[in-house]
Amino acid sequence: MSIKINYDKIGLKAGLEIHIQLDTRHKLFCGCPTKLVEEGEEDVFARELRPARSELGEVDVAALLEWKKGRLYEYHAPRESTCLVEADEEPPHEMNREALITALAVAKALHSTIVDEVHVMRKIVIDGSNTTGFQRTSIIALGGYIDDEDGRVGIQTICLEEDAARKMGEGKNRVLYKIDRLGIPLIEIATAPDLHTPEQAQRVAFKIGQLVRLTGKAKRGLGTIRQDLNISIRDGEKIEVKGVQHLYLISKVIEYEALRQINLLKIKDELLKRGISLDQITGEIVDVTHIFKNTKSKIIKRVLNKKGYGVYAIVLPGFKGLLGQEIQPGRRFGTELADYARVWGGVGGLFHTDELPGYGISEEEVQALYNYLKASSEKDAIVFIAGKQDKAKRALEAVIDRVRYSFKGVPPETRAANPDGTTRYMRPRPGAARMYPETDIPPIEITEELLKEAEKLVPEPFDKKLKRYVEEYGLSIELAKAILNNIRLDLFEKLVVKYWGKVSPTLIASTIENTIKALKGEGVKIENISDEHIEGVIELIANKYIAKEAIPEILSYLADNPSKKPFEAAKELGLTTITREELERIIIEVIESNRDIIATKRERAFGTIMGRVMAKVRGRADGKLVALIVKEKIKEFLEK
Ligand SMILES: [Zn+2]
Repeated sequence: MSIKINYDKIGLKAGLEIHIQLDTRHKLFCGCPTKLVEEGEEDVFARELRPARSELGEVDVAALLEWKKGRLYEYHAPRESTCLVEADEEPPHEMNREALITALAVAKALHSTIVDEVHVMRKIVIDGSNTTGFQRTSIIALGGYIDDEDGRVGIQTICLEEDAARKMGEGKNRVLYKIDRLGIPLIEIATAPDLHTPEQAQRVAFKIGQLVRLTGKAKRGLGTIRQDLNISIRDGEKIEVKGVQHLYLISKVIEYEALRQINLLKIKDELLKRGISLDQITGEIVDVTHIFKNTKSKIIKRVLNKKGYGVYAIVLPGFKGLLGQEIQPGRRFGTELADYARVWGGVGGLFHTDELPGYGISEEEVQALYNYLKASSEKDAIVFIAGKQDKAKRALEAVIDRVRYSFKGVPPETRAANPDGTTRYMRPRPGAARMYPETDIPPIEITEELLKEAEKLVPEPFDKKLKRYVEEYGLSIELAKAILNNIRLDLFEKLVVKYWGKVSPTLIASTIENTIKALKGEGVKIENISDEHIEGVIELIANKYIAKEAIPEILSYLADNPSKKPFEAAKELGLTTITREELERIIIEVIESNRDIIATKRERAFGTIMGRVMAKVRGRADGKLVALIVKEKIKEFLEK
């Protein structure tokens, strides 16, 4: 599927909602550390969450369906990072000042208007991810902007909220959560729908993430940043996409969602062209089990052996060929319908005639279906589901609703991101979430003192940084610009200060920027290289334990063996520096064994000798020092 979209022409509008975990000493409403725990003692308790019906308010219907199932939630509470607050056995404590100050600093950096008083609110959640049945959230600032090369992007809100519990697994009527993550402060930044290309959206998400990291209070690594997107095109619909975990997926998700909306609008036009109207979709569900009595389809056969199970079908008049149309790479209109069947009916999927014969279903069976349902195999499409009667019917009813929407175009939905950037239906787009005041926490006044504290964390503007990197740190302008756009900018700043006078800022920047890039080009798994690895390597340089020439090899080794320490890597690779005495000894040895070359070429033998020495000491001695001694020793040799 070739994709070339003119975003200007289709009127793309996208907005971001970025959630970043804060690396504060304590959680938002208790004194527990903000740490995920994999081992150690834990308490286990179970709850059945049934919020009062009235409290549910505008909670969406699909979630309601889930809630009605009466699930049991099992919570695992590691003692190291949870207390009675996470278990909802004790009221929340005061709001964490460190987190509040960080949010205020971010608000200042984004030119946002800070509220006079922070009110903590309860946002109802019914998936069990909060032991209380709600998430605590509070608006810190409103409005503001971030500048981007394609124009200014508005900020709508900056909130401080508590992270939810981690879902660890799911059984039939039981969901398992670990509550170590519950209560970790999250800063949530929502932009206006001012983003007009996928690239711009990705770039702005990066800039916002970097800005928060520069406060020095953001957590790093997988799962610490989550992005939700809202995307629409002209004549399309505002679609929410939840849970984009990787920055690099943002542009893909937006591109594919724009494409999906374009293709759904094309289907709408095609229906109009074919002269099909909404009232032709009768929605009659017909039992067609008997047609598959002797089927070779394994999926259907397995189902028909069970009592209360069958095959149920609907006719979509005039839809022939439309269900097989691809609307996102690898996803057809039929896939969209199947999503509805799965979410609403809990079935595994559906069959449609645009993909048949296939899956063991024969041409004869397809023809029998058309005959029995009095449908035209030239014009109509048939959708059918094999499964338990009530589930299959509920699933088909959802499919009919979705099909009816195709006459309008794009249905308003909340979708989930797939790992390849395509998306799948999750639930209808909910109305605004109902919020209630958190009565256990009084409003917090934003005092001058708090604002003064926040000022200290506001990151320095980028133009000032650039100037400082060149003038004070001695970076080339190219390297300075590159490091400003590097995801590890905060690591760079930290290491420069920590190793000032011991390791040059240029070497630190070049390691973070150039070395990593070069290793990526060589196919090294750079995603395994952590900040700790890089810091460890720089520390080895500072302690003169390795030469800078050894850096690429050590990092490459760590990418393959991420659990090793840089120190161990250097040792195992034999890349620890050699003493000056040893170096001199090796150089004299090389000179002695190349007497003839030096005798004929004299000083011009330097290149050859240097090359032979470096072959022996590469990564273990500084190149400049080697050159110096080689020159010196050749001179001594010639004088003799
Ligand atoms: Zn706690």
